[in-house]
Amino acid sequence: MSQITVTLPDNSARSYGSGVTPQEIAESIGSHLAQDALAAQVDGQSVDLNVPIEADAEVAILTGDSPEGHEVLLHSTAHLMAHAVKKLFPDAKVTIGPAIENRFYYDFDIDGTFSDEDLVRIEKKMRELVANDHVVKRMELTRGEAVKLFNEMNESYKVEIIEQIEGDDNISAYTQGDFTDLCRGPHVPLTGKIKYFKLLNTSGAYWRGNENNKMLQRIYGTAFSSKKALNKYLKFLEEAKNRDHRKLGKELALFTFDEEVGPGLPLWLPNGTVIIDELEALAKETEDKAEYQRVRTPHLSKGSLYEKSGHLEHYQETMYPSMDVDGIEYYVKPMNCPHHHKIYAAHPKSYRDLPVRLSEYGTCYRYEKSGQLFGLMRVRGMQMNDAHIYCTPQQFKDEFLAVCNMYLYYFDIFGIDKYQLRLGLHNPEGLGGKYIDEPELWKQTEAEVRQALIEGNIDHEEISGEAAFYGPKIDVQVWSAIGKEFTLATNQVDFAIPKRFGLTFTDEAGQEQTPLCIHRAPLSTHERIIGFLIEHYGGDFPLWLAPIQVAVLPVSDKVIDYAKNVETALKEAGIRVQLNGQPNKVGAKIRQAELQRINVMLVVGEKEAQDNQVALRRRFKGDLGTQSLDDVVTELKTEIETRRNTYRTN
Ligand SMILES: [Zn+2]
Ligand SMILES: [Zn+2]
Repeated sequence: MSQITVTLPDNSARSYGSGVTPQEIAESIGSHLAQDALAAQVDGQSVDLNVPIEADAEVAILTGDSPEGHEVLLHSTAHLMAHAVKKLFPDAKVTIGPAIENRFYYDFDIDGTFSDEDLVRIEKKMRELVANDHVVKRMELTRGEAVKLFNEMNESYKVEIIEQIEGDDNISAYTQGDFTDLCRGPHVPLTGKIKYFKLLNTSGAYWRGNENNKMLQRIYGTAFSSKKALNKYLKFLEEAKNRDHRKLGKELALFTFDEEVGPGLPLWLPNGTVIIDELEALAKETEDKAEYQRVRTPHLSKGSLYEKSGHLEHYQETMYPSMDVDGIEYYVKPMNCPHHHKIYAAHPKSYRDLPVRLSEYGTCYRYEKSGQLFGLMRVRGMQMNDAHIYCTPQQFKDEFLAVCNMYLYYFDIFGIDKYQLRLGLHNPEGLGGKYIDEPELWKQTEAEVRQALIEGNIDHEEISGEAAFYGPKIDVQVWSAIGKEFTLATNQVDFAIPKRFGLTFTDEAGQEQTPLCIHRAPLSTHERIIGFLIEHYGGDFPLWLAPIQVAVLPVSDKVIDYAKNVETALKEAGIRVQLNGQPNKVGAKIRQAELQRINVMLVVGEKEAQDNQVALRRRFKGDLGTQSLDDVVTELKTEIETRRNTYRTN
């Protein structure tokens, strides 16, 4: 038998007989690894552990600790769940069951829905199948054989999937016990390898996500390779549920949706509007320092503007339909750019005027499919922290870096520790189609964006084929305090549209030139960033953002006048205060303030009234003792003005 050389991830090389399997390699390395092994990667391809390796190769044994191994585990658990469902509900038809981040789901066509008791039964059945330790076998079928097999099983969705797979390659399926599923693999070799899992919840989902198709029943679940990792994730999910911005938005009276107003069109309640005002004040202050100029634009425009901008050509399905006004088509604006371009063009510009930075909290309307709407994160009406920077190619790098630094400045204020900028680049095959046909300009601009990010020491990842039509784009991902991921905003470099709008400036030689344009929105839309901040802070906003900053709690009616004085002193200092003059015991008033998540409570009794003092209480800190009213007001004012980050980190 000939020998082959297997190179392991640590770059060590080992010699084996040709035809060795990853399972045998794992056994030769150690019994622990052999036990933990779920699948393998051979020359970067994920494969089953029993696939013979015939030639020299790089081999990595996948355990549940690696992202690839975890995916195999999650997907294998989805099969296990489908197996259990078929045992308990023989008439259920299986559709698809992919792994998603830390979870899996499987969609079933059944009569009715799955109840919570059903999930308990399914999970119990899954544990039986694990105890049986079924071997999971792969089989290769021709297309005809596969169609025949799944037709015999009455699995019409699988037949539909097979018929739509392109090419004539063989189709693979996996069998465990009496259950067979269409699948590319790889899979764990034994059902006994799946130990730590939990079914989470059910929901309805249309077949292929199309609302004209049948509604299927989806079950979500999760699986990990250790009990500890599973419990950690379940704890995270619990915390995420408590922090859900839709739930907290209601509890804290921040925003609401009304069927008569329309889906995806948030109504901001007084408490939420306070947060909006604070964010706008922050934006205005920051942009003033960075020499932006504020502008205002109408919510409507003639269709011809969106023809020129290319929106009607590329973006129409996301726009609200047109309305006829005096025989002319008008649209509500999906973006602010065209209006800002017109403001730039309102007066001639010379190189001395550049850069021109126009900013606006612009209101936009976008048509999102009703199935896509999600709380504040996907809406149809939004206000964007928008600005367009018009500059010369020489100014571009500095301007771009300044925008990136503005992001970092905001992240610091909000206590966002984990973030990533994803730089979307063009791919040359797309030139002239998906991307504007300016190969040199693409190369040059992308190089400058990259250089700016490197010089600014800004963590980023490059992704080819993710650019906008008119230039490279940066997507900003942030993670909340509990590690939940959000897409915050997109920044774009635009070297095409200014030309279409005939935007110019006169250079030093008196020649007309076209400026570059940077589209940026570091604070995203009010909807998205407030949705994020609610979850990031778990509803416990830092003082500067809190709708109610201080509650004044008199212990009895006797001190109500003094309590009013305290209220006035706070109001005069610009602090948002709520005086609770109800005839309740002070303990009840404290509990009420805690429920409203009011961070600062000032308890006043007769002693405090005599000495012009307050008893200070803060959420998560409790009683902080009696202090002079003046000192407390001064301290709170500083905390608010410096936008100190006081959110709870546990
Ligand atoms: Zn599978
Ligand atoms: Zn824009």
